[in-house]
Amino acid sequence: MTGHIAENLRAVGAAIASAARAADRDPAAITLIAVSKTHPAEAVAAAIAAGQMVFGENRVQEAQAKFPALKSAHPALELHLIGPLQTNKVKEAVALADVIQSLDRPKLAEALAAEMAKQNRRPRLFIQVNTGEEPQKAGIHPGDVDGFVMLCRDQLKLPVTGLMCIPPVDQHPAPHFALLRKLAARHGFAQLSMGMSSDFETAIQCGATHVRIGTAIFGKRG
Ligand SMILES: *Cc1c(COP(=O)(O)O)cnc(C)c1O
Repeated sequence: MTGHIAENLRAVGAAIASAARAADRDPAAITLIAVSKTHPAEAVAAAIAAGQMVFGENRVQEAQAKFPALKSAHPALELHLIGPLQTNKVKEAVALADVIQSLDRPKLAEALAAEMAKQNRRPRLFIQVNTGEEPQKAGIHPGDVDGFVMLCRDQLKLPVTGLMCIPPVDQHPAPHFALLRKLAARHGFAQLSMGMSSDFETAIQCGATHVRIGTAIFGKRG
């Protein structure tokens, strides 16, 4: 079941490099986040054995079940939480994650600031932007980004390093990626988390620095 992971990682790595070169970008400027949600710790271990050290999970509980042991065996391993974060999971998230990509509301920003002070641990943060303004989707609407950045970065002094988006499934992603890039540039954020298995090449063309890829590495989720 884990047999194809090394091979898939090589293929995805090669596709990232060629998309980068086609866009006149340095492939080393793009971080591949291997999204291991729903896949067992053995699958993560297979990816680590193939040299992958950056992973993404979307549920705190699932990440807690898999990653503490892997992290103590591999101290360089980096864990990104990429799913909606409830305020009652902030304590666990701050203790476990190296990066939290789903900062999407003032209440969460305040809870993270308080918890980081308490634990003296500061995972880096991405603000999630709802570029398609979809009612069912998490994220700050584009028109509210300026005020939210002010709250997070200037008032709460949170370690925000970039923006993240998940474009609507039924639209061409490029305009959404371009919008995220424009918002990041306006605020001086160097990092852009955008692009998944189906659209990472477009995302790289639009300036992604972090691509979040699950299916193309680990196979279909059950
Ligand atoms: C699951 C997930 C991904 C990975 O999606 P694939 O299509 O499997 O590559 C990326 N980003 C987020 C936020 C996800 O929840």
